Amino acid sequence: MPTSTILRGGHVLDLTDGTWRTADVRVDEATITAIGPGLAERDADELDVTGRYLMPGLIDGHVHVTAFSAELRDLEETAASYVTAHAARTMRAMLGRGFTSVRDMGGADHGLARAQAEGLLPGPRLFFCGHALSQTGGHGDMRLPGDDRPPAAGLGPGISTVADGVDGVRRAAREELRRGADHIKIMASGGVASPTDRIDSTQFSIAEIAAAVEEAAAANRYVGAHAYTARAINRALRAGVRSIEHGNLLDAESLTLLRTRDAFLVPTLVTYWALQREGRQHGLSATSWAKVEAVLDRGLASVRLAHEAGVRIVFGSDLLGGMHRYQNEEFRLRAQVQPLIDVIRSATTTAADLLGRSGTLGVLAPGAAADLLVLDADPLADVTVLADIGDHLRAVVQGGVVVHGALGPSPR
Ligand code: ZN
Ligand code: ZN
Repeated sequence: MPTSTILRGGHVLDLTDGTWRTADVRVDEATITAIGPGLAERDADELDVTGRYLMPGLIDGHVHVTAFSAELRDLEETAASYVTAHAARTMRAMLGRGFTSVRDMGGADHGLARAQAEGLLPGPRLFFCGHALSQTGGHGDMRLPGDDRPPAAGLGPGISTVADGVDGVRRAAREELRRGADHIKIMASGGVASPTDRIDSTQFSIAEIAAAVEEAAAANRYVGAHAYTARAINRALRAGVRSIEHGNLLDAESLTLLRTRDAFLVPTLVTYWALQREGRQHGLSATSWAKVEAVLDRGLASVRLAHEAGVRIVFGSDLLGGMHRYQNEEFRLRAQVQPLIDVIRSATTTAADLLGRSGTLGVLAPGAAADLLVLDADPLADVTVLADIGDHLRAVVQGGVVVHGALGPSPR
């Protein structure tokens, strides 16, 4: 788009009340500067988007853009250059699915974020944590039981780093912050596919979690914690963690803590849905695969409970390897248990709140980044518009630049 552009005559989404109004949107450089009917075209080019639906670019609150394989151990043994090539393709594809910002929860680093910001690598704006922190034998310790070599040292393209003890956790958090991390990720419980831990385990001592929280807070950052069971979720929240990743097995106390501590829940239902469909062919063991259905069912129930309790819920997908293409299925899953407008808020305004970018990302308003989607159907009327976005997405604008598709009006 030219430096100053008016997108004329589209339907513009107001996320506060979930309504559309017909208005013009003025973009100067990378920013939306005015929205309203009949904007004067002074010093601006015009693009007719009559009949199109304009909404903010989507935000995915839990991704791993470097995870080219569902077997995360592979990443630690692969050249960074190769991992970057895969990440570039994954990030480009995310733009084509409408995601203009993502929060990476392990793997992406300052180099990728810088390449994206400088336009070397098309993709969503990247909020990264570097390596996720894991205890020995925790969800981020990729060693098999028979491997007695030292664990991953938090160098290179792995998802995680192993740290033990308050001092060890402090140092690992400081390393990630030194490299520019936007947040710190900790593994606070077991997981579905990790080689040696149990899903019902808690991980890190309270003192270790508190140390990570203190280091993040010192740098004006925050901690997000991978946690499944209520026991793991609740101790992480009490220690000051700001976002709970997955949260499938939460309880009533978790809901109270999430609300009273102003924390966020970032469910990732689609990763279980995808593992159910394709997990076996991606190397998931029969035992792990058997657990997936229960985790998905409980996850859906937890999103319903959290919604009813008024918890702030953020969109997340957590897909790995060849399953990234299912990113937008998360909309269809959540729409089973939440009103569609709230699912859309989870991927726009609420996600921006979590990123500390309220008012500049996830919203169409003067002063916000010019990140917007141009759709040929109403995403509030039918979940398939976002779930099957390839059928409806005409253009993606990011920072005032058309990065996918092309702008224009609906055919009469
Ligand atoms: Zn996780
Ligand atoms: Zn994850």
